[in-house]
Amino acid sequence: MKILVLGAGVIGVTSAWHLAEDGHEVHVLERQSGAGLETSFANGGQISVSQAEPWSNPSAPAKILKWLGDEEAPLLFRPMLSSRQWKWGARFLYECLPGRTRDNTLQILRLAIYSGQQLKHLRAATGVDYHHLERGILQLHYDAREFEGAQVRAEVVRRGGYDLQVKTAAQCLEIEPTLAFSKIHPVGGTYAPADESGDAHVFTRNLAQICARRGVSFSFDTTIQSIEADAERVRAVHVVCAGVTERIAADAVLVCLGVQSPFLLEPLGLSLPVYPVKGYSVTIPGAGDEAPTVCLTDEGHKIAMSRLGDRLRVAGTAELNGYDTSINEVRCNALIKRVRELFPKAGDFSAAQKWAGLRPATPGNVPLIGRTRIPGLFINTGHGTLGWTLCAGSARAIADIMNGVTPKVEFRFAAA
Ligand SMILES: Cc1cc2nc3c(=O)[nH]c(=O)nc-3n(C[C@H](O)[C@H](O)[C@H](O)COP(=O)(O)OP(=O)(O)OC[C@H]3O[C@@H](n4cnc5c(N)ncnc54)[C@H](O)[C@@H]3O)c2cc1C
Repeated sequence: MKILVLGAGVIGVTSAWHLAEDGHEVHVLERQSGAGLETSFANGGQISVSQAEPWSNPSAPAKILKWLGDEEAPLLFRPMLSSRQWKWGARFLYECLPGRTRDNTLQILRLAIYSGQQLKHLRAATGVDYHHLERGILQLHYDAREFEGAQVRAEVVRRGGYDLQVKTAAQCLEIEPTLAFSKIHPVGGTYAPADESGDAHVFTRNLAQICARRGVSFSFDTTIQSIEADAERVRAVHVVCAGVTERIAADAVLVCLGVQSPFLLEPLGLSLPVYPVKGYSVTIPGAGDEAPTVCLTDEGHKIAMSRLGDRLRVAGTAELNGYDTSINEVRCNALIKRVRELFPKAGDFSAAQKWAGLRPATPGNVPLIGRTRIPGLFINTGHGTLGWTLCAGSARAIADIMNGVTPKVEFRFAAA
């Protein structure tokens, strides 16, 4: 089949690799000058199977209300005159119901476990390099009540088939000795030894090069304007590159456009509940012996810390604020302030690089992977807070679906 993959983020490129492996003729279209330059560029770096619980959970509504108007809050809702935002917000509240949270957590956990396995296969098959570390993820708790809740959640993850261990403060220190440099001390933590970390942008860029060597063609600086379909099936994609428009015909089209996915599908009568949840990261160079190497989550502040070679990536915060990607200094400085408290000599804070990205989120954080009702048109999008964690399994699953094969993971596949 001749397949067009729309979008060269971590989801599009990983999908392209699997489709090419399955013998298809694959062409990737991307508006940026290279792969992984939008949301997949500077994320938290965590392959966090253990953190499957979505932000839409029973404790979220009270937290969001408490934090309204607080510029440094980990979760911040900025009300806008946008029906898209309010519709998504209402669905988010619905997904906070205990039963919905349980189901969403299970869906994500199953896909995440499968993804972890697929990432290992992909690494073995390609040798792709991306500063990856297999030292587990330690989630730190500085509040006793939050820690109690985390122990209940750990049990859910364990019952779902994934090892997540409860640790005392002293055990946390054994796992990550640089915590000794911290000005404040956790009350305890949960540790997932099989979780990993790595640079999603380096992975996406390097895997795109591997794909290209394998025969996948890439058109960068190419903006997709529309998808053409008739009553029978998808036919083509219309693009513009350097001012020139072009129609590219295909047998199948896979949409991996992150937060832009709904805009290309709406003219075809397909509505996707994907809305941007903005986050920030700072990348601190010169990370040495006093910076952590085990990947960490500071759960109270919703901050991820990943060691990427000689840099420390610190990412987090969620803001419902439309499609704006400008840097908010207050929110980035809040990240830096917190890392300084935890690891005062982690690296060269004065040279920290700030970044903002838009998570393509569904209200329950469960991605949309599967067929649409237009034959030949498929989606792999809406991975929200976990696109890097879920990329390898989502890609294998959508390739199976496009091949007419049942994926080897039990998951609520979408039919848009
Ligand atoms: C601050 C932050 C921290 C995060 N931390 C983690 C983490 O630790 N672990 C984790 O698992 N996940 C994390 N995530 C989430 C993860 O980064 C995303 O889920 C993932 O990058 C989404 O990938 P994607 O390929 O769907 O989207 P993108 O990477 O945005 O790719 C979509 C691509 O489509 C292209 N595109 C869009 N419209 C058009 C068009 N009209 N024409 C042509 N091209 C177009 C874009 O240029 C883009 O390259 C984090 C996200 C943020 C913001």
